[in-house]
Amino acid sequence: MVLVSPSHGGNVGATARAMRVMGLRSLTVVRPRFAGICSHPDAIAFASGATDVLAGAIEVDTLDDALADCHLAVAVSAETREFSAAPRPPWEVCPQIIGALADDPALQAALVFGPERTGLSVAHVQRCSAVVSIPGEPGYSSLNLAQAVQVLCWELRRAALAGVVPPQPAEPGAGPPATHQQIEQFHAHFEQALVAVGFLDPLAPKKLVPRMRRLFARAGLRVEEVELLRGVCKQMLLAARGALPGRARRDPE
Ligand code: SAH
Repeated sequence: MVLVSPSHGGNVGATARAMRVMGLRSLTVVRPRFAGICSHPDAIAFASGATDVLAGAIEVDTLDDALADCHLAVAVSAETREFSAAPRPPWEVCPQIIGALADDPALQAALVFGPERTGLSVAHVQRCSAVVSIPGEPGYSSLNLAQAVQVLCWELRRAALAGVVPPQPAEPGAGPPATHQQIEQFHAHFEQALVAVGFLDPLAPKKLVPRMRRLFARAGLRVEEVELLRGVCKQMLLAARGALPGRARRDPE
């Protein structure tokens, strides 16, 4: 579980408890409102004995740091954000996560929760490949942070206990999925290449970058595919500099 910028130690403690009861232990906190939130007395009190989860929790500066080695990041959000994937309910997403983990135990998956007051930003949601939403009462559907964590942890456990996991569509020879870090490095390279060929204006980027991000998130990139795309970026950059061997750049007439 990843909590982005929580404000209240009590919510972090209640999250630890919610996770522990459902057999989950790995907690990362991104830039909390104050350092050391996991050892705050409120966190300890609300953890109600799940202090091992708090003691093992990691505090990091950015969501990218939290997700670096992760292959499947799912944003948990009450509200739809522009350019995000379409939100899906927990009973659909959680069995898929459990199924993916059953297929490949080396896979790392993360659920990403937002700050209490503001929820996840557009930038946060765009760093995830799927969005899950608990469809509460329209107009009053926002749960307390730790309660939302509880619902998702329960759905994960329910799917694991049921043991009925949807088969993952087989893609022969597709290779392992790319990590968050590999995908972020590709996005940085791709943006650089798009600027170089004049397709992206850094001063007026419009909606190009979020649209591209949504497209690639939908693709579920594999390591090999990221390498291929980075090869394309490299070639675009060389072409833009007129540095392709034996092929001088020709400006359009
Ligand atoms: N006003 C904020 C509420 C944040 S509640 C917003 O609209 O996003 C804190 C966090 O709890 C959210 O960022 C989300 O991760 C989770 N959460 C609360 N209600 C939820 C719901 N109905 N579906 C999914 N996540 C929810």
